[in-house]
Amino acid sequence: MTHVCDTRALRTAQQDGRALAAFSVYNLEQTQAVCAAAEELHAPILVQAGSSAFRHAGRGPLAALAIACAESARADVGVHLDHATDVDEIRACLAAGYGSVMYDGSALALDRNIERTREVVELAHAHGAWVEGELAGIAGDEDASGAGPSGALTDPDAAARFVHGTGVDALAVAIGNVHGMHAGPPALDFDRLAEIRARVDVPLVLHGASGLPEDALRTAVSLGVAKVNVNTELRRAFRAGLEQALADEDDLTKHGDVTKSDDLTKLLAPARDAVREVALRWIALLSGTRVTA
Ligand SMILES: [Zn+2]
Repeated sequence: MTHVCDTRALRTAQQDGRALAAFSVYNLEQTQAVCAAAEELHAPILVQAGSSAFRHAGRGPLAALAIACAESARADVGVHLDHATDVDEIRACLAAGYGSVMYDGSALALDRNIERTREVVELAHAHGAWVEGELAGIAGDEDASGAGPSGALTDPDAAARFVHGTGVDALAVAIGNVHGMHAGPPALDFDRLAEIRARVDVPLVLHGASGLPEDALRTAVSLGVAKVNVNTELRRAFRAGLEQALADEDDLTKHGDVTKSDDLTKLLAPARDAVREVALRWIALLSGTRVTA
């Protein structure tokens, strides 16, 4: 397949001072919601399906639905594998048609990480796909909010060595960003980001963006971040939409003799709408549009 969100899209975004939103999805409704937002704003996005979501949905089914939604979207939607540590999983996703993968070798010693990442780059490039790498662990768990262990920060010299030694197309940076939502927003180390940018010529990726102040995000994007991962806020929106639908349903039951509906579409549609709203806000923010909501 042709990959609609290739490295050109990332590089163009970086040059233009924009970033692509990369939305982590766990199910059909979330995937439809972010694709609808991309269509509405005519913006390229990435849908991140897996690795952890595969434990819930199954790799084959979730990969197939993400690719089907991306292909039918009237916008450039790339399908990306986030935080993969298993090369067999990467191979399966590339075969399924993923346009990009993140190999997360951040738990490995630098030399070993370079060696493994380089192998993934060769594999992915043979499929016409691009690779995001990481060399310092980003704190927290991408599937949960709350206090996580504090991670190491990306060393600019090591970053240069890593990018040069692996041939990765994008680099996830650890500059104080933390996965998940936290009591107070983490302070980002912009000096470090600027130094990494000066040493490394690939687009940079920011994980753990949920909950960061808009100004901090804009600064990060102006310093070369061209892909921003969003996960927690979409999950929260899905949950809030679902809770609202259930509350509305309870209200109806209280004020009449209707029995509770078992029509799942009436419960899932508001959850999908809530995710779409959040995705719209993120796409607009990262493309430099002022948002008034
Ligand atoms: Zn992450």
